[in-house]
Amino acid sequence: AQNEKDSQYIISSWAKDHYHKLLLKSDEGQGIGLSYLRQRGLNQTTITTFELGYSLDQWDDLLKTAEHAGYDRKYLEKTGLVVTRTDDAGQDTGRRYDRFRGRVMFPIHNISGRVVGFGARTLKPNDKTAKYLNSPESEIYHKSDILYGLYQARQAIRTEEVCYLVEGYLDVLSLHQGGIKNVVASSGTSLTEGQIRLIKRYSDNVTVLYDGDAAGIKASLRGVDMLLEGGLNVRVVLFPDGDDPDSYIRKVGDQRFQEHLDQQSQDFISFKTKLVAREAAQDPVKKAEAIRDVLQSIAKVPDPIKRQVFLQQTSAAFSIDEQVLITEYNKLVRTAS
Ligand code: ATP
Ligand code: MN
Ligand code: MN
Ligand code: MN
Repeated sequence: AQNEKDSQYIISSWAKDHYHKLLLKSDEGQGIGLSYLRQRGLNQTTITTFELGYSLDQWDDLLKTAEHAGYDRKYLEKTGLVVTRTDDAGQDTGRRYDRFRGRVMFPIHNISGRVVGFGARTLKPNDKTAKYLNSPESEIYHKSDILYGLYQARQAIRTEEVCYLVEGYLDVLSLHQGGIKNVVASSGTSLTEGQIRLIKRYSDNVTVLYDGDAAGIKASLRGVDMLLEGGLNVRVVLFPDGDDPDSYIRKVGDQRFQEHLDQQSQDFISFKTKLVAREAAQDPVKKAEAIRDVLQSIAKVPDPIKRQVFLQQTSAAFSIDEQVLITEYNKLVRTAS
């Protein structure tokens, strides 16, 4: 099985080089892919560091070139770079085509720097297919154990002692280019335990920078309980509605972006408290629900001292007697287990 995996690593690395060359050297790659990346503000260093690429808008450029170079199509299929066309009954029709066509390619590296898969963005404004496509799971690519950008971020996460967590590929690239190198993305999937373990290898502190839309805020509430459970210290930074970290840093510049992070970052429990308290307003029933909601998050924190501090804060924030709150907390923990 090791040979199988090695062959998949080799074909993925080859494909990464192929896409990268197309981006920089082919007319189509330069005219469509490179000019798109430039327009989004990315420079040559970023393109090189992250080994970005471009897939030609043809059915089988990758397949043909790979076979011409002597690669076995079996591994192109196993890594999902090439797709098998099936008929309506699910039978293999014998037809093969490239999964990624006419897209900007984002190679996904594991922590040893080997390419295990790709993210790919369409460049067509009215594409009927998904804006982003990803490699499927394979023997070398387990989505739940990969964070985009971690390979390029790992040193900085150690030295800065915090890991910034964003939603998208472009967020990672723009922040990295702006000097914030300790940044990774979960890339569309909700956070997994495997990803949290990965972060913990490098730091106990995570700051979540999700998109400034309702979906982003929802996603952060969901994902963050898992981060707490993993024993991480979690902070949150919000962005104006409609902005994500990438659009915001492009708008305000590197320095003001860093200031925004420093000034706006807040502890997650306080953030959640404020959020649910505002939603509940003065309605006593909703307020009680809101408090229990926060208590649920606090229950995820493994460190008893931190839990105690959070309980004190929550009692103050809702003007609820601390003993009453603790009694309620204990009840909640008992029924949960
Ligand atoms: P861009 O700035 O290029 O429009 P984005 O990263 O801001 O992209 P979002 O819509 O905020 O895009 O999505 C965040 C992330 O979720 C993406 O980077 C991608 O990893 C993933 N994603 C978005 N849309 C899709 C999709 N249709 N299918 C699969 N993954 C997606
Ligand atoms: Mn979004
Ligand atoms: Mn974006
Ligand atoms: Mn976004």
